[in-house]
Amino acid sequence: TAPEATRVAVVPSYIRDTWWTPAESTGKGAEVRDASTGELLAVVNADGLDLKAMVEHARTVGQAGLGKLTIHERALKLKELAQFLNGRKQELYELSFRTGATKIDNMVDIDGGIGVLFTFGSKGRRELPNSNVIVDGPLEVLSKDGSFAGEHIYTRIPGVAAQINAFNFPVWGMLEKFAPAFIAGVPTIVKPATPTGYVAEAMVRLMVESGILPAGSIQLISGSARTLLDELDYRDMVSFTGSAGTANLLKSHPNVVHGGVRFTSETDSLNAAILGPDAVPGTPEFDAFVKSVVTEMTVKAGQKCTAVRRSIVPAELVDDVVAAIGARVTERVVVGDPRAEGVTMGALASMEQLKDVRGAVESLVAAGGRIAFGSLEAPEVVTASGQKAVVADGAFMSPVVLTWEDALAPALHGTEAFGPVSSVVGYSSLDEAVKLAAMGAGSLVASVATNDPEVARTLVTGIAAHHGRVLVLNREDAKTSTGHGSPVPHLVHGGPGRAGGGEELGGIRSVKHHMQRTALQGSPNMLTAVTGVWHTGADRNLADPADPSTHPFRKSLAELRVGDAMRSELRQITREDISKFAAETGDTFYAHMDDEAARAAGVFPGIVAHGYLLVSWAAGLFVSPEPGPVLLNYGLDNLRFLQPVPAGDSIRVTLTAKQITPRVTDEYGEVRWDAVLTNQDDELIANYDVLTLVEKEWPKKA
Ligand code: NDP
Repeated sequence: TAPEATRVAVVPSYIRDTWWTPAESTGKGAEVRDASTGELLAVVNADGLDLKAMVEHARTVGQAGLGKLTIHERALKLKELAQFLNGRKQELYELSFRTGATKIDNMVDIDGGIGVLFTFGSKGRRELPNSNVIVDGPLEVLSKDGSFAGEHIYTRIPGVAAQINAFNFPVWGMLEKFAPAFIAGVPTIVKPATPTGYVAEAMVRLMVESGILPAGSIQLISGSARTLLDELDYRDMVSFTGSAGTANLLKSHPNVVHGGVRFTSETDSLNAAILGPDAVPGTPEFDAFVKSVVTEMTVKAGQKCTAVRRSIVPAELVDDVVAAIGARVTERVVVGDPRAEGVTMGALASMEQLKDVRGAVESLVAAGGRIAFGSLEAPEVVTASGQKAVVADGAFMSPVVLTWEDALAPALHGTEAFGPVSSVVGYSSLDEAVKLAAMGAGSLVASVATNDPEVARTLVTGIAAHHGRVLVLNREDAKTSTGHGSPVPHLVHGGPGRAGGGEELGGIRSVKHHMQRTALQGSPNMLTAVTGVWHTGADRNLADPADPSTHPFRKSLAELRVGDAMRSELRQITREDISKFAAETGDTFYAHMDDEAARAAGVFPGIVAHGYLLVSWAAGLFVSPEPGPVLLNYGLDNLRFLQPVPAGDSIRVTLTAKQITPRVTDEYGEVRWDAVLTNQDDELIANYDVLTLVEKEWPKKA
């Protein structure tokens, strides 16, 4: 019979839009086994994979295909992809069970990953322009006459986003990096970790099968890829997740140190959970704290970069906390094969991982830790057939809680056991709690369980700068909180120091992380041309007041261009207008009613018009009232009243199409209009943006 390893499949890589496996003559690769049974599942081997060609393909074909789309079009593709994957996720579940993951773990990894695609699909369209240039921050006028100005723009990096991932979340870990790169327009090369890379491969296969992604947007390395960084330069970036040791090795690669490869990492982290002094047993905060610690110890068998490794609790409550954690574990946690009914905690990812975690616990014990709950003995677990047994080849471990005589023991704050392991340590003052949390030397996340606002403020301001994220848990959010260990795609996932120093994941920031920020200087006309956004001082195409058909409100998106504008007649404001407006609205603020009081305030020349009267009048001055392509006005942005307008003065409005954003899914788009109110002497009275929805075609197609 053939040796075991030749009877199983080699996990393929995906290069230049084609699936690839190594020639049979190349090395034997790494064996991957079912975490619960030890059954050989596959071989992982990338020997002979042409990494140079992969990178070249991303920089050429990948960049070209993504660059043909706008940010909104790419965001919509992510949404379509998410919908497609939602219909196929069961296939991934089946595979993922083999990594030791339970159904809940799969939801975190697979559904969580698909959720990231949905979030970015929506955020990309709501928060970014429908173009490929993002303007960052306000305009800086750099010359007296306004003919020279500067601002910052983001455009995508010209290379590839290479992601090197950890074994614990093969799907979510990949998609949380893929989604922002894709929206930015940057192709991805994924290098999953060997033990669970077959799940990432299955996900990439589905992504390819969907037919939704442009050629070259994703490539996959199933294998060790130790020379990937040799192929990269300053055009490219690497996002690494894994151990600090590997991060340090890669960070010191010559192409990072001298070649300018952009490198960010998320490494290990000894995250803390602090119990406030008010959160004594019997309070909802105590219960929420214990529940959270047990969840973090057992979800994914504690193999989470965000898991709670250190519970920092009032010294007199250490025993209560350990007892409550132990009771909850005993009551709720069933260790076993995730395919068996009732199992709530699966195996570690591999026997190697089990050995590492046991070794880490032994070194914690040698450094002064005491196992106060659980043990290192191989546990009796529920097997796939529902029997109870000790499985020699299964990577199973019982949850372990350690306590410490010496709260300052370096190992407690420095040795990560990447499994169902957590320590409980006492503090005697809030200052000490802060100090202990900070001894993690930079962590991804901490939680603070308290219902005392003063405790929350003291602890959070004390620890925030040592953390990427802080969760405050109390009775009000205990049920609704997404939890200590769940990074959300909207918010920073990363942390300072030991956590890797990254804050590039989370929200629109992570899209911009795949882009270069460039200071752009030039005249308003040139800034308008480059950004597609009309800039004050740039040319306007003014409507002819004598010909209402030239009013920009008569133009659909098919005809409207940025810079299309109208200027109204002047309208004079009388005292009577002001009193009438005051009476109708009830806004009888003294500045609109009482000359003497208005003057006495020192800021008004006497009675002045209401700002809202001016804005209302402006609408009357700029509107083109008949039904037409402008559907509705959905708000104003950045409204500022710059000068009071006394009775007797006149105002006019100039309205200019500033930014046009066709919606990729609708028959209309958003038009942002620059509105400027000036008086009879052309002095600035107010400015703001008017936000409208405008039809793409008018008259509408039948
Ligand atoms: P490693 O650092 O060994 O591996 C992480 C990734 O790096 C894997 O894909 C691995 O590939 C790859 N890799 C390793 N060496 C190189 C190299 N020289 N060149 C290129 N790629 C390389 O971490 P582990 O997989 O052992 O993960 C365990 C540790 O990672 C945990 O103890 C935890 O501290 C940390 N971690 C942090 C997370 C976070 O989000 N912050 C999440 C998960 C884990 P291969 O598998 O093929 O060797």
